[in-house]
Amino acid sequence: MPKPPTENSTKRTDPSLPDSPQRLFFALLPDGAVRKRLHQLQKDLEKAGGRPVPEENLHLTLLFLGNVEADKVDAVRDIAAGIEGKRFDLVLDTLGGFRQNNARILWVGPSESPPALGALHQSLRRQVRKIGLRVGKGVYRPHVTLVRKADLRKKSPEDLEPDIQWTAHRLALIASELLPSGSCYKTLLEKKLSE
Ligand code: ATP
Ligand code: MG
Repeated sequence: MPKPPTENSTKRTDPSLPDSPQRLFFALLPDGAVRKRLHQLQKDLEKAGGRPVPEENLHLTLLFLGNVEADKVDAVRDIAAGIEGKRFDLVLDTLGGFRQNNARILWVGPSESPPALGALHQSLRRQVRKIGLRVGKGVYRPHVTLVRKADLRKKSPEDLEPDIQWTAHRLALIASELLPSGSCYKTLLEKKLSE
């Protein structure tokens, strides 16, 4: 018997079909100035090779949902629309990498995660559970992925000391379609966090 898809399933989704599940995640989107600084950091990391995340796709994942059945997508939208949080500051000051097969992912993240960020993650997690979605129990490690498939033999510049000040106020619910050319993101809803 085929196994049921899990939340991390890469089952093909097709948003043009009304009943097709959608691969969803909540994210914070950088504004123009922060996006530019992230892009500059990608350029500074060019020596590490790999595939930079397209500038327009740069984001910080708040909660990854994976495939969500079509009949639950509206409820997820309502959760995003109902978020009442305040904007908060975070400082992206740490570069890191983690292995993925024979390559690695390079990311930048905060050395100190602001309490508001953890609270937002927990609140989203609680709410999606309430509508019957399963989300993994993994520890939340906020980061912005900069480069995929970086070459492990090439070292990334160690003299880089990022210091990106970010007032996060754009929360988005994003659908990600996995295409052979890479994932294609579509923002389903954007919610501004209040001042
Ligand atoms: P690609 O998979 O084509 O390299 P991608 O990782 O950007 O592109 P998705 O796999 O749809 O696209 O992931 C969307 C976001 O959710 C990314 O920030 C990704 O790092 C994160 N993500 C994906 N899978 C998980 C997971 N199992 N747990 C936590 N976060 C995840
Ligand atoms: Mg992925």
